[in-house]
Amino acid sequence: MSCPTWLQPVSRVVLGADPQMHRRVLRTLMAAYVYLICMLLMMRGVWLGMVDERLATCLNLYMTAGVIGFYAVLRADLTVRCRDSSLALPQCLFAITSIVAAYIIVGPARGTVLLLLALVMAFGMFSLTPRQTLAVGAFAVILLGAAMAVMCRIKPDDFPIQVEAIKFGIALSVLPTMALVAHQVSQLRERLLKQRRELHEALARVQELATRDSLTGLINRRHMQELLDQELKRQERSGASFCLAIVDLDFFKRINDTHGHHVGDEVLCGFVRESIEVLRNADMMARWGGEEFLILFPETRAEQALNGLMRLREHMAGKALSETVPDLVVTFSAGLAEHVNSHTLRQTLERADRALYAAKASGRNRSVLAPVS
Ligand code: GH3
Ligand code: MG
Ligand code: MG
Repeated sequence: MSCPTWLQPVSRVVLGADPQMHRRVLRTLMAAYVYLICMLLMMRGVWLGMVDERLATCLNLYMTAGVIGFYAVLRADLTVRCRDSSLALPQCLFAITSIVAAYIIVGPARGTVLLLLALVMAFGMFSLTPRQTLAVGAFAVILLGAAMAVMCRIKPDDFPIQVEAIKFGIALSVLPTMALVAHQVSQLRERLLKQRRELHEALARVQELATRDSLTGLINRRHMQELLDQELKRQERSGASFCLAIVDLDFFKRINDTHGHHVGDEVLCGFVRESIEVLRNADMMARWGGEEFLILFPETRAEQALNGLMRLREHMAGKALSETVPDLVVTFSAGLAEHVNSHTLRQTLERADRALYAAKASGRNRSVLAPVS
């Protein structure tokens, strides 16, 4: 539920900033509102001489302590690790004991108090588990029945057995029915929650599939295009230059032909694993094509990016990229281009591509910096 802007600071203090805590505390405050009305009515009963003042004060203190206790525990976030983090079950049981106590002490108006039991079940259906709703329904019937039986014996004039039996009969028909309805709503809620969780997971999987390369786990070409667009906008704002390198493994086809496709796959994964170790956190690497990778060096000048590529080359020289053929020597060629303000992304990519071609043509296992043209 959203509240007006001017109320938001108050709401943050009273209900907490975390949306989940907000919901939990709000529900407790709604119950507190009902308790408050009941306390006021009870004081009115005392004033009218219908309710014993001492008993009313005890019950009011009991309810006040309960409400403050539940509010404090929830607001202090002490239940965050509990399964029942909103304390729904203890709150419902506490409410039932308060209602039954009120039933005993409020005199002739006691019939109306029973309505509140239905309210507890209505609250419960949105916060209890299906099993808990049945337990709360059973607890309400048993406690009320026991209170009525005891009062019929102690004060038969105020609690005539025939009248109490009729009231209990009605409670016996209403409360279990309410508990069953609450049970069904609670089951529905659990199913919806499960479906929502599954939907979130499916969305995350779709997102993963849409943005990641399944073999190496790197971001894919399409997602890299989006990141490049963002980098271009950032560069237009800040003016800080960025570099793009297209990296292509040398004679990769030969690896496939000699050792098999699965060794080729191992090399690709090994190359990515080692590159991630060497590159800075800010650098972004994507699988651009089969054995071709694009590295984005944000806010980086050409000399620094060339250094990065050199570190990568030195690192790869001593690494076993394939587990199956550990002594396999794999080199790469790279074409590097520093983005120029007046150019489009496409032009920068074409310059990097031409530089890569030059690196291949001049003997491979080297990086070539594209001239600004
Ligand atoms: P160059 O040094 O000129 O780049 O030679 P190259 O052999 O690396 O280049 P070429 O483009 O001729 O061969 C690339 C090979 O990469 C061909 C293709 O079968 C292989 N390839 C592409 N994607 C994959 C993949 O996902 N796994 C494996 N194992 N091989 C792949
Ligand atoms: Mg190649
Ligand atoms: Mg290639």
